[in-house]
Amino acid sequence: MRMLLIGCLLAATLPGADRVVMDLEKTPHAKVKNVPVSAVTMREGFWQSRMKVNVERSIPTLLELLESNGIIDNFRRLAGKNVARRGPLFTDSDIYKWMEAAAFVLQSQDDPKLRATFDKLTDEILAAQEPSGYLNTYWVEDRKDRRWKEQQTGHELYCLGHMLQAGIAYYRATGNRKLMDGGIKFVEHLLRDFGPSKQPLYAGHPEIELALIELYRTTGRKEFLDLAGSILKGDGERLKLTRQQTVYTFSGRPFTDRTIVEGHAVRFGYAASGATDYYMETGDPAYKATLERLWKDLTETKMYVTGGTGSRASGETFGDAYELPNAKAYTESCAAIANLMWNWRMLAATGEARFADIVETTMYNSINSGMSLDGTMYCYRNPLELTEEASKRIRNPWYVTTCCPPNLERMLASLPGYMYGVSKQGLWVHLYDNNRLDWRLEGGAPVKLTQTTKYPWQGKVALEIEEAPVAEFSIFLRIPGWAKSAAVSVGGRKAQGEPRTGGYFEVRRAWKKGDTVELNLDMTPQVLKSHPLVADNQGRAAVRRGPVVYLLEQAGQAPGVNVLESYLNLTGNAAADFRENWDPGLLGGIVTLKHRGRKSAAGYESMPLYGLLEESKDKPGEAAELVFTPYYTFLNRGPSAMQVWVRYVKK
Ligand SMILES: [Zn+2]
Repeated sequence: MRMLLIGCLLAATLPGADRVVMDLEKTPHAKVKNVPVSAVTMREGFWQSRMKVNVERSIPTLLELLESNGIIDNFRRLAGKNVARRGPLFTDSDIYKWMEAAAFVLQSQDDPKLRATFDKLTDEILAAQEPSGYLNTYWVEDRKDRRWKEQQTGHELYCLGHMLQAGIAYYRATGNRKLMDGGIKFVEHLLRDFGPSKQPLYAGHPEIELALIELYRTTGRKEFLDLAGSILKGDGERLKLTRQQTVYTFSGRPFTDRTIVEGHAVRFGYAASGATDYYMETGDPAYKATLERLWKDLTETKMYVTGGTGSRASGETFGDAYELPNAKAYTESCAAIANLMWNWRMLAATGEARFADIVETTMYNSINSGMSLDGTMYCYRNPLELTEEASKRIRNPWYVTTCCPPNLERMLASLPGYMYGVSKQGLWVHLYDNNRLDWRLEGGAPVKLTQTTKYPWQGKVALEIEEAPVAEFSIFLRIPGWAKSAAVSVGGRKAQGEPRTGGYFEVRRAWKKGDTVELNLDMTPQVLKSHPLVADNQGRAAVRRGPVVYLLEQAGQAPGVNVLESYLNLTGNAAADFRENWDPGLLGGIVTLKHRGRKSAAGYESMPLYGLLEESKDKPGEAAELVFTPYYTFLNRGPSAMQVWVRYVKK
């Protein structure tokens, strides 16, 4: 009760800042605007349990690890504490990302202890800031002379970007702008000393662009938007950057010159996010055209079925078109998050459901897999196939480069802000899960509704209006692109018009308290094939049910079934042959899928590396049942071989 009261007081004293992921209130080219994180109360369901683990386990334990690994001491050292600097040169960003996660938690609900921790960290961080505004714990003392000279790898702007994002999220949560003001002081240093007639700037690792634009949205200071624009344009000629450098970093030359998705996957995703923000603020058609070109390239040739990106371990980069290996997949958690961030912005810019589809795919699969069910083990890589031996290195509590854990935490903490949107026409329902919305339409009229569902395990979603304006408005229901069919009813009667999958279905009327809308999505399991040029997936199929991609994990199979050698037995209508079972006690509660399969032929080990085709003994063996479980749950039962793309036979 006391906590609730403080929450109300805080909300009442907010300086007009909505607790949003992106503040698009005045953004001229945003078609669908954000709903505050605080406007959506998640109720018992799929994401609430993940968010609870995030708040209760992940966020506190990661702070302990950031502390014990010296990441916070790096700041204290500059204020006089006698310790050595620890960690790689970008570690400042890890504590900022943790702070952004904490700030999003505070946007949902006040927590005085968490606020006190944030405030203490802010003081310790700002005590290390130089009078000029410069702040970075790596480029100091004997490395001070090298500041800004190694911008490709220096991560100075990257760290600043994360500091700004944390400061903005906390300001929106509490009204306290101390950390944000510290960030502004650093940006003012950039504005003073860098520019066309002064020193050149090079993002190196994009991130600053989207942070500066959010800072512009928060403060109204256009010089921040212009600075983001100049970084997106790049100063490659003065910096004498090689083509290879601008490819790898996805920065340093004009963003609008880009024709393909390439280079470091996270850098690309953040650059594209910043460029989409820039488009939404300026309306520059060259940006829109470039973003569409890149989206087509990514989704048609370079994205995994899980929404993961970045095929190559070497450099954490994209591969060529259709280069999507499964066991070697790099698919960093941060790259999946960057993919979501970009698609979320494209959705805001266009109102088109194809972008929401990728937000959902990444959320349920390639992002969700990144954090263990108990919230203390994280994936840096999220591969689509593993031997048992390789699986032992995939989930870890800590990484020397620990970018992914706090990134996953800020993502989960901000999730309520992704469920809905508003536009002049009405309310958009982007994602489905149990929650209550208490917000207003673009004109300011209040709207309240509850969403009730067992999604993603069942395809029925019910909305009930609690409060609506007198004038009519539309509710836009997202009909996922994966759905083979969908039905919408209003007040128990079939809605007019046919819902088109991969679009938003508009129901327009004057709503009143007690009105209901029901969406039913066909959740029949689907067997997927990939483009013939994806070499690893030839003769293989993947299984998806609703937004959830499935896999075969060795743990949970019948004795004698080796998941890496088995075959899915597909005859007739493959999808109809799945036996679905809701298992509330397994892996946090999941629907398992069982299907007829075949074991591998006996004697795999004794087969020659090369032999005559006509003498091959590589034929499917005896019948066996295969158990498919959701991809995101992999490696929560100890080391285990696993596979998303499974060989199949049609007999
Ligand atoms: Zn990462």
